[in-house]
Amino acid sequence: MRTKQDYIKGLSKMKRNIYFDGKLIDRDDELQMDCINTIGTTYDEALKPENQDLCTAISHLTGERINRYTHIHQNTEDLHKKQDMTRMLCQKVGGCIQRCMGIDGTNAIYNVSYEADKLNNGATQYHENFKKWLTRFQTEDLIGCCAQTDTKGDRLLRPADQPNPGSYVRIKERLKDGIVVEGCKVHISEASVADEVLVVPTRALRPEDKDYAVAFSVPGDWDGLKQVTTIHNLRPREHYKRGFTPGATDSYMIFENCFVPWERVFLAGEHQHGGACALLFALFHRHSYSGCKPAIGDMILGTAALAAEVNNIHKESHVREKLAELIMTIELGYAAGYTASDLGKAEVYLPGIGFVPYGPGSFIPHSIYCNVGRCLSGEAVFREAEILCDISGGVTATFPHEADFANPETGAALLKYTKRNPNMPVEDQAQFWRYLGDMICSATGGIMNVGNYHGGGSPIMEQIAITTQYDIESRKKLVKYIAGMSGGDREALSPVAKKAKK
Ligand SMILES: Cc1cc2nc3c(=O)[nH]c(=O)nc-3n(C[C@H](O)[C@H](O)[C@H](O)COP(=O)(O)OP(=O)(O)OC[C@H]3O[C@@H](n4cnc5c(N)ncnc54)[C@H](O)[C@@H]3O)c2cc1C
Repeated sequence: MRTKQDYIKGLSKMKRNIYFDGKLIDRDDELQMDCINTIGTTYDEALKPENQDLCTAISHLTGERINRYTHIHQNTEDLHKKQDMTRMLCQKVGGCIQRCMGIDGTNAIYNVSYEADKLNNGATQYHENFKKWLTRFQTEDLIGCCAQTDTKGDRLLRPADQPNPGSYVRIKERLKDGIVVEGCKVHISEASVADEVLVVPTRALRPEDKDYAVAFSVPGDWDGLKQVTTIHNLRPREHYKRGFTPGATDSYMIFENCFVPWERVFLAGEHQHGGACALLFALFHRHSYSGCKPAIGDMILGTAALAAEVNNIHKESHVREKLAELIMTIELGYAAGYTASDLGKAEVYLPGIGFVPYGPGSFIPHSIYCNVGRCLSGEAVFREAEILCDISGGVTATFPHEADFANPETGAALLKYTKRNPNMPVEDQAQFWRYLGDMICSATGGIMNVGNYHGGGSPIMEQIAITTQYDIESRKKLVKYIAGMSGGDREALSPVAKKAKK
């Protein structure tokens, strides 16, 4: 396994293809360091003996110990550990740990490449090629990002019907030794600090969309790929340092005449599996949210409780109600992920067919619970921000900059007028308002909220998944029986309940 320093050294050797604010920058540019330190925590923590069980695993391909972020889930225990590792690491950096897109993308492609080869009766070697790629990914302990979201052009048109054929990333040309792709993936987190980019389709595809059924991986600095990156750093602090400074980046990834050799292509034209790949990445990613969102909730809860304490209102009943509301969302999101892990199987839900065995036997979390958990947590984002805003009052919006506290002409007066709770050092009260400003009044805080709402799929996507996969008809039959209507069935749910427990 690598150290954080090995990882940074690797980044420093990559070619320049990252544009930020009109300039080409190096991967180890100072601007990227907050993000690198955040994701780098996954290396530091995996090397600690006390974290070995949670943050590392034994590769089913090589038998070697690997970072869990490069692992393919072999059983329900692996799913539980991935959720708990995510929650623990997100707590350590006070937000998104940034590395889950790689594990979610690899687990999706691992299954889909196997099924596509089966469909092609051995005419393709996607899965063997993916396993070779994965062995290197695990052995070299690489960071992967997952580029799923396309620009999508006119939302009401399917990929092949778009006036701009690159609105969704597509195969432009098929050559003897590989494919040429074009298009643009957007909002791709940590792509600017990733070693490898995994590309998967965004949505269900029709036969005429087959050129959009494409999955592959290329290094982040590959020829034919440009990244235009936004870097989300908090305002630098000179006088009153943070305990940890998280950072994040997102990229527009522009593929122009980008050649991908066959050994890096894991799906090319199998439209049925294009849809399955989109669905599976989203599913694994929604499962990751059942670890990260509870951790972000832990931060929000701690912040709300401290805001109440600084304001000396922590014993008031309206504060208790709000803290209880936060805890319920946090732990219901976690519980949904826990259940999704516990009911995990080598099965996937295919629209119109139901749950079917899928892939070579690795474990997939239960779809309903992944979607329920992500939707519940995603929809709560702005309510949580509202609670923080409510309890803290207006001070976060107007709190003076740190240099005014360091200035002898204004510092003492500012501290005097910052004091609220007589039992807490006023310096801590000032530091707390600076932190809360980072969270809810900074550009980065705003970006985090949008990411927590839409990342992994907007709530509407989960609502569609839940209502199409849930057995609503059986519930109707049960109610018909109890109500004494025709067509009722008292046992309507029993087989379903048994099946879910299998
Ligand atoms: C900070 C951040 C980080 C992210 N990281 C990643 C990442 O690492 N990798 C990745 O692949 N993606 C990433 N995403 C993308 C995320 O998954 C998408 O934002 C999300 O799936 C919603 O897609 P969209 O942004 O295109 O919104 P849209 O799909 O444009 O949604 C906008 C509105 O249009 C509606 N709409 C869309 N299509 C239709 C339709 N056909 N009919 C009716 N209504 C429709 C939606 O319901 C919604 O109300 C990230 C997003 C953010 C904000």
